[in-house]
Amino acid sequence: MKIVKTVAEVRAQVAEWRKTGMSVGLVPTMGYLHEGHASLIKASVRDNDKTVVSVFVNPMQFGPAEDLESYPRDINRDSLLAGECGADLIFNPEPEEMYHEGFSSFVDMSVLTQELCGLSRPVHFRGVCTVVTKLFNIVKPDRAYFGKKDAQQLAVVRHMVDDLNMDLTIVGCPIIREDDGLAKSSRNTYLNADERKAALVLSKALALGADLIRGGEKSCSAIIAKMKEFIEKEPLARIDYVKIVDCATMQQIDTLDRPALAAMAVYIGKTRLIDNFFTEDL
Ligand code: AMP
Repeated sequence: MKIVKTVAEVRAQVAEWRKTGMSVGLVPTMGYLHEGHASLIKASVRDNDKTVVSVFVNPMQFGPAEDLESYPRDINRDSLLAGECGADLIFNPEPEEMYHEGFSSFVDMSVLTQELCGLSRPVHFRGVCTVVTKLFNIVKPDRAYFGKKDAQQLAVVRHMVDDLNMDLTIVGCPIIREDDGLAKSSRNTYLNADERKAALVLSKALALGADLIRGGEKSCSAIIAKMKEFIEKEPLARIDYVKIVDCATMQQIDTLDRPALAAMAVYIGKTRLIDNFFTEDL
């Protein structure tokens, strides 16, 4: 697996592929790859002639009190996994390569980012929109792949691409879970054995909410109350939010009368985990 660290190297490689008319897929990640990332890479390999995986822990999307320093990193392991999935190139820049001295341009978004994770992580989506725009400009992919695990991120990126006429297709991929239901995440490595067990409250609470919806419940506050009640029984869990929002605008709704997203962020000990489902996937 070829790993490159500079924008110039990515551009040169992609230009070579483009000469023979090849299509290119991009999978943006922060690395420490797991089967969730693997599913995105495989989808890109299936749809495109060549696949670029970016591995970049983007400082701009972390708040000052967040886990930028401790975020797990292992580029050799990532390279093996990406290679097994059929990727062709890893772009693994240093922060200075992405944000040179004097960097001062940003891509930001209103409305969609003023709910859910945007409330607890005020600088997060500005960092995401900026880095994703840069990656799109560097790689110029035909398609880019994002997981539904980060549902708000997927909605924000889709909206940005539409608003700013970016010339590529965004592909959303299903959440990959552990056998017991926990959504796979690089941050799961922070959990000790007790926390790992406690972390099941997220997927179980969502299953409870999904059952209520399948049973005909339409009141969002009733569904949310039941999910919160379930999570609050777990002593290691602390709720950041449990919400049901319109899946296009990310604004809260009262009644399930349109395609919606049920989403939550819950601290298990010090680790903030997120999970969700789209009602249209039920
Ligand atoms: P990250 O490295 O956590 O920034 O994630 C990179 C991409 O992988 C994002 O589009 C995530 O939504 C996606 N992803 C992370 N975990 C999962 C998962 N369990 N299932 C599907 N996609 C995932």
